[in-house]
Amino acid sequence: MHRGDFGIENFNSSQGHIVYKYFQIEEFASPDDLTSGNMMDSLLLDKLDLARDICGFPLIINSGYRSIEHNKKVGGVANSSHLLGLAVDIHCTDSRKRFMLLDALLVAGFDRVGLADTYIHVDVDPEKKPCVIWTY
Ligand SMILES: [Zn+2]
Repeated sequence: MHRGDFGIENFNSSQGHIVYKYFQIEEFASPDDLTSGNMMDSLLLDKLDLARDICGFPLIINSGYRSIEHNKKVGGVANSSHLLGLAVDIHCTDSRKRFMLLDALLVAGFDRVGLADTYIHVDVDPEKKPCVIWTY
């Protein structure tokens, strides 16, 4: 078992918090606060789990929740959805996987997508305009 694909045993975890089929909550933590993965929006993680199921390959989370300090450090915008636990950046550098991942994310119901050279950002921020795909 490797990072990005924690498999079915995580789904059966009985640790008393919400668990996901393919992800551990720690994968979404801000690096300066290792428990902050709990700040992630559960609707987002449900959709992400579904997208992972559809695309069929492991997803590496580059960035999930960000503290204000960490967001500044990585050059995030001041109103970043990462500050609210409403966004994830998924590692992706391969054109074929980018196609498959984008398709899976859209089928799973994401309607705010940012395409970068090395990752795909998705968020579920209700304060921002839906049905958009942008580039960096
Ligand atoms: Zn992002």
